[in-house]
Amino acid sequence: MTESVIYKNILAGAEQQGDDDKGYQEGYLGDAIRFKMNRDGKRFWAGDNISEYLQGADKEQLINDAAEAFEVVLDRLLIDRETDPNSKGTAYRLAKMYFNEVMAGRYESAPDATAFPNDSADRYEGMLVVRSELRSMCSHHHQPVSGVAYIGIIAAQKLIGLSKYTRIAQWCARRGTLQEELCNDIAREIMKATDSENVGVYIQAVHGCCENRGIMAHSSLTQTTVLKGAFTTDAGTKKEFFDNIKLQQDFAPR
Ligand SMILES: [Zn+2]
Repeated sequence: MTESVIYKNILAGAEQQGDDDKGYQEGYLGDAIRFKMNRDGKRFWAGDNISEYLQGADKEQLINDAAEAFEVVLDRLLIDRETDPNSKGTAYRLAKMYFNEVMAGRYESAPDATAFPNDSADRYEGMLVVRSELRSMCSHHHQPVSGVAYIGIIAAQKLIGLSKYTRIAQWCARRGTLQEELCNDIAREIMKATDSENVGVYIQAVHGCCENRGIMAHSSLTQTTVLKGAFTTDAGTKKEFFDNIKLQQDFAPR
């Protein structure tokens, strides 16, 4: 049976599994989901959200399947997960951590960002800058990335709650990312949630893959900036954004 026939069987469900399916083995749930995404041309890179392809108890099943796979990885690394008490539950802990924590932003849908009207005569027209703590992970080495995003916005006809900026930023960050991509992702999602075309995102972060391995640079800091609308076209807006970041950093140095 070819691979695609197996996937089709997974998708079609039990009713299509007749006598001619002798020897058919049900694949992993992840294989069926991957088949659907390939069929739909849906990208599922480490930094992509795939929540629309998950339902109900899928995540639990995926965690159990990933735990099995992590057991194999530990075996291949020649780590004794039978008698080493600290390695006994590690495969399952890793699987849970990936799905529920370090990559949660891939599997959860976007945070609700209730919008409030900002269209009265005395509407807020100034700049808003929110500082959001970030924890992420690099796609290349799965090493931690930790830092701060400064999100600047000129309010449009609606406003979202202040905590929502950070929730959106963290939802984007809890995936496998590149800092450059993350900066773009946050800007795009903030624009979507607020309808504002004038958005700036500045991230500074330290990368585990530079600190714990490779060049072992313990004081390296990576800075990325994405500017949209007035933040690029108007020098005054751009300056105000970076002045505000400086004030934020004086207020709470990281
Ligand atoms: Zn890396």
